[in-house]
Amino acid sequence: MSAQIFHNCKAKTNALELSFLRARPCCLFRTPGRPQINPKLGVDHVLESFKHYTDEKVEKGCIKCIKQENNGVRSKRNYLDTLLKDGEYDFYYDFQLSNLCNLACKMCSPNFSSRLVKPFEFYKQKGYDDDNGMVSPILPNKWDWEIVDKIFEDINKRTKDKKIVIELKGGEPTMQPEFKDFFDKFENVQNVRLDIITNLQRLPDYFLENISKFEEINVGVSLEGTEETYEYVRTLGDWKTFKSNLETLAKETRSFTNKIGLHFHPKIISYGLSNVQDLLDFMDYGESLGFIGAGDTSIAEIIWTPHHSCPLYLPKDYVETVVSRISHKRDGKLKKLLLGSNSYTEKQMQNTLKFIELTDEFNKKDFWQTPTGKELKNYL
Ligand code: SF4
Ligand code: SF4
Repeated sequence: MSAQIFHNCKAKTNALELSFLRARPCCLFRTPGRPQINPKLGVDHVLESFKHYTDEKVEKGCIKCIKQENNGVRSKRNYLDTLLKDGEYDFYYDFQLSNLCNLACKMCSPNFSSRLVKPFEFYKQKGYDDDNGMVSPILPNKWDWEIVDKIFEDINKRTKDKKIVIELKGGEPTMQPEFKDFFDKFENVQNVRLDIITNLQRLPDYFLENISKFEEINVGVSLEGTEETYEYVRTLGDWKTFKSNLETLAKETRSFTNKIGLHFHPKIISYGLSNVQDLLDFMDYGESLGFIGAGDTSIAEIIWTPHHSCPLYLPKDYVETVVSRISHKRDGKLKKLLLGSNSYTEKQMQNTLKFIELTDEFNKKDFWQTPTGKELKNYL
């Protein structure tokens, strides 16, 4: 049965994730052991290699989708199925080309942010063992143009008469010097939907000019809180810069004639729980500017689950207090998620407290002065 999940998955035939120097069917697929598939040999070679995956490899590789579907949760496979099923799009490329980033967010890891390499070394020296850190041995902070050009041979051939979707995530694309040249590689932008995730600490002019040319552009903006909470969680980030860039993005894209989607990627994490009402209010403000507001999908996926940053591990009486004052058109589902799945354990809380101590020491910050810290300390 589990092998069927992969063999019936669009990722096997119509998708490719380029994660640094390796090719995988999707960003969730685990590729334990070697050899990895070499993307320098081109997309045809990569797809041919997927065909030869053994059932055992599929069983281990697709574990997340298998678990999610068994629990009735929408999986990545379901997402790809919906995206590609009616034939509007022929192929989905998912690019993570460099971990160069300007921020060091609390819930992130060095795999995704170059700014987290040093903090993680520091945590390790201090004996903190983050078993979910999943630090990859390959952390390039530059794009490999030989690989990217090879994949673009396929993109430009395919888009002569078919439409495709490209997702680009980081690190932070607008920080990466190669990003500007990326736009020049497309020969048929009219057949490309581009989905970009950005932290909006930057909004370069060339970005706005180029995204207006694609058939469709979706800009996803990550957010876990506002003001002090934003700056604590998004270490090195500046709230005013973020807010101003968000307003400019909404204003400038209003005159675009292509299809444009402005999306929030909101997450509630343990360091921002007391700020959740402001987060929801800010999303409503974003909606008034043209962003897609807090809807069923964003609320269903709003809880950040891995390790020390997961709000479900916080003391239940604290969570109840926060939940009791939330007031929003979507608050029913949110309250249920926060309380229904609470799984506080003292051991896990100690892990979170240890992480707070170390990250504050490294960044010279004080969690206990943030809105969440001030309230949480009454429940410990
Ligand atoms: S992990 Fe999920 S989306 Fe990825 S290849 Fe397996 S079934 Fe498909
Ligand atoms: S902006 Fe994104 S990639 Fe960078 S540290 Fe934050 S979560 Fe990680």
